[in-house]
Amino acid sequence: MPKAKPVDPLELTTSSIAKFFSTEEDAWLMVERLRWPTGTVCPHCGVIGNATYLTPKSGYRTTRAGNTSYRRVWQCRERECGQQFSVLVNTVMEDTKIPVSKWLLAMHMLSAGKNGVSAHELHRTLGITYKSAWFMAHRIRYAMAEPARVLLGGVVEADETYVGGRIKRAHGTPKSNKTPVVTLVSRDGEARSQVMHAVTGANIGRVLTEHVAPSATLMTDEASL
Ligand SMILES: [Zn+2]
Repeated sequence: MPKAKPVDPLELTTSSIAKFFSTEEDAWLMVERLRWPTGTVCPHCGVIGNATYLTPKSGYRTTRAGNTSYRRVWQCRERECGQQFSVLVNTVMEDTKIPVSKWLLAMHMLSAGKNGVSAHELHRTLGITYKSAWFMAHRIRYAMAEPARVLLGGVVEADETYVGGRIKRAHGTPKSNKTPVVTLVSRDGEARSQVMHAVTGANIGRVLTEHVAPSATLMTDEASL
């Protein structure tokens, strides 16, 4: 993906967001920079920075109804994965026909609004149907109320366990068909657990990227973490 200066979400203002409104492409690129500061993250296998941008299958296209839609699609290059994905997977913007640029402004309006923003205001300001505005407001408020969105900071302990019981690692990778789970605990007692399909460096990196602040000090008792 193109190298670009990371965008600090705290510096977003209505005018800085509006700069990205000239095209849907710019809005998508902004979300990619925010979500993937160190490269694409495959939502299927977790590998970072190993995907091909599918030029022919993305970009602007005309729908049957005659509307123009835009999306950026990537394909994972991991041999055993090969899945296609976009930056919207696992976000509130996934599987909707609402343009990303409108999502970004709605998020800003809902988070910056001093007196609360109604679905009617979104409907009028963004030029979308009331039904779409209500749906966006509902999804965004729900996501904003989710405490797991805050990164763990300070001293964070990472621990690898297996569902059904802990396995002592004697030599190398433990042989088990149990589901591996990585648990992160901060010194103030907040804990996060995440299931992984396979304990690989890429998967662990993804969990850390999603949950731990870059400034945190990571403590582990496993050589692989
Ligand atoms: Zn993949």
